[in-house]
Amino acid sequence: MPARPQVLRVTMGDRVLVILGPGDITREQTDVIVNAANSSLLGGGGVDGAIHRAGGPVILEACRQIVERIGRLPAGQAVATPAGRLPARYVIHTVGPFWSGGRQSEAETLASCHRESIRIADELQLTSIAFPAISTGAYRYPVDQASQVAITSAAEALEKAAHVRQVRFVLFDSETFTQYANAARALAASSSLKVDSNHDT
Ligand code: ADP
Repeated sequence: MPARPQVLRVTMGDRVLVILGPGDITREQTDVIVNAANSSLLGGGGVDGAIHRAGGPVILEACRQIVERIGRLPAGQAVATPAGRLPARYVIHTVGPFWSGGRQSEAETLASCHRESIRIADELQLTSIAFPAISTGAYRYPVDQASQVAITSAAEALEKAAHVRQVRFVLFDSETFTQYANAARALAASSSLKVDSNHDT
């Protein structure tokens, strides 16, 4: 039987950062879910494959049109498409950095993925966005380091957003949840923010 999801909430004034896992991002009912895509935007394994399978061909067709217009999507950038059959309204596709030891600006690129995704959601006047653990699968970014970069950059972008009020991290396995929850607790402690755990999702 799958483990019961755990939830951690960090309250930032009228905004909230939610860390949840184990969970499947394709079932999220946020306005937008983020895909850890590759530069071709033509689908792949991991969360990318799961999103295309669950959302159907509308997403791939929209990705093809984007590639025709702008070419391959560089790491750290993001684009939005419709979400097809998914409960979310949009998918934002972003390309994480491939981990090459940490000296190829991986942290800055990963931070940019989160900033750009939240900026695009804000431009679309959306209020909620869900992220997977970008780059921590096939792209091999160590989860303890990725979690700190992801949480810090997402919280900064959330503070600045005009419309986005909720950022959720939906982590596929318990170990990844633990790392992202630790990073969120550390952020809350350093900024005197309120943390609650095991709320309903
Ligand atoms: P990347 O190529 O950016 O590393 P991956 O898809 O290989 O992307 O992995 C990123 C993370 O997404 C991993 O933690 C993986 O376990 C997770 N993942 C895979 N499927 C799902 C899903 N359906 N929902 C949420 N996370 C998922």
